[in-house]
Amino acid sequence: KNDRLDAWDRENFFHPSTHLAQHARGESPNRIVTGGNGVYIEDRNGTRLLDAFAGLYCVNVGYGRTEIADAIAEQAKELAYYHAYVGHGTEASITLAKMVMDRAPDHMSKVYFGLGGSDANETNVKLVWYYNNILGRPEKKKIISRWRGYHGSGLMTGSLTGLELFHKKFDLPLDTVLHTVAPDYFRRDDLSMSEADFVAHCASELEALIHREGADTIAAFIAEPALGTGGLVPPPAGYWETIQPILKRHDILLIADEVVSGFGRLGSMFGSAHYGLEPDFITIAKGLTSAYAPLSGSIVSDKVWKVLEEGTDEFGPIGHGWTYSAHPIGAAAGVANLELIDKLGLVGNARKTGAYFKAALEDAFTGHPNVGDIRGEGLLCAVEFVADKDSRTFFDPSKKVGAQVAAALLSEGVIGRAMPQGDILGFAPPLCLTEQEADTIVNAAKKAVDAVL
Ligand code: PLP
Repeated sequence: KNDRLDAWDRENFFHPSTHLAQHARGESPNRIVTGGNGVYIEDRNGTRLLDAFAGLYCVNVGYGRTEIADAIAEQAKELAYYHAYVGHGTEASITLAKMVMDRAPDHMSKVYFGLGGSDANETNVKLVWYYNNILGRPEKKKIISRWRGYHGSGLMTGSLTGLELFHKKFDLPLDTVLHTVAPDYFRRDDLSMSEADFVAHCASELEALIHREGADTIAAFIAEPALGTGGLVPPPAGYWETIQPILKRHDILLIADEVVSGFGRLGSMFGSAHYGLEPDFITIAKGLTSAYAPLSGSIVSDKVWKVLEEGTDEFGPIGHGWTYSAHPIGAAAGVANLELIDKLGLVGNARKTGAYFKAALEDAFTGHPNVGDIRGEGLLCAVEFVADKDSRTFFDPSKKVGAQVAAALLSEGVIGRAMPQGDILGFAPPLCLTEQEADTIVNAAKKAVDAVL
């Protein structure tokens, strides 16, 4: 259907993360999505697609869940909005805070609700600075992130994001942000390194950065438990066990960005629990409401909370709030969503079906001369393509092999994601995925790979 919506779109709609000129010229696809059910979405032309990326890895319970839609409608009718300033709350926001904290690691204390992952990370950084100011050490301010980490698109969070595209021409990163090695063993520079050597290399690079800058200038380290948008890479064995003691030794706070991993994606309720992290902050968004309404959270530890509390006794109310903090509609969606995750056993399903899915990808692609790596944890999986497997030679990026495979996959009726760096086909389907649906994805992926490589 090529009708007025298409024209209105190209005339009026400034799309995020889009090649603006190509879109305006009509060179990029314009899909108007009209419905969804389970792992499938449908567009205006009646095309039904298996969404193996759950939107932007956020629709964790799957599409069309009437329990959540009903909760949103009831909340909107009863009370669409009231703010959360100066101790105000709603039944939904208070219940959700309790549900989040019941699920969070034991040493965490409170949750501050925002709108999306970016603003939650902005909140975390502000709270880190506030914390150090209260402790009388304002110079302890820099934040270390990893190359290829993804933490959002704002001024601070876009700086933390370790992808060049998010810095280029925006005068970012800000100078309080430092980047260190991405924990991607497959992409190590020195192929002779063992996994243990590579972890030691990540650790020594981090130590060297801390010494160069001075530990008394470094406030926090932010990281996804498993690298997300930068390539969907589970950490090498021993990574977190090696990194955490370094941070502790230098009194550097850990922000675990669980926007993707929170609420089951890796097969555990939180990625922190999955890998034994003891963060001072946990960022949540996406899976908190399965994207049925925008909502995020910054969870702070007991240690941080104690200092923040003392700070407000000394300096007055905390000067940080959004109009839509703890929005009742988002909170109602969150309550219904977390109930559904439990009721359907989706965390366990992510673990079980994730293992099945990864094994099926391995069956399909192990031995393919252009498949260099097949990896995953829970329902976060990726296949990485190379020009030559034995020498691990990458394709010329201008060939856009990953994007070509994703396009071929789409024509087989399955949405995967060409990750922004490297030729990586990513999968992060809804956590309700069945084994049969996993087979559908893998069969389509086989055809797509055969068509391109
Ligand atoms: N942190 C991580 C790990 C993410 O993957 C994302 C988004 O993909 C964000 C933060 C930013 O979240 P949002 O896009 O909701 O601002």
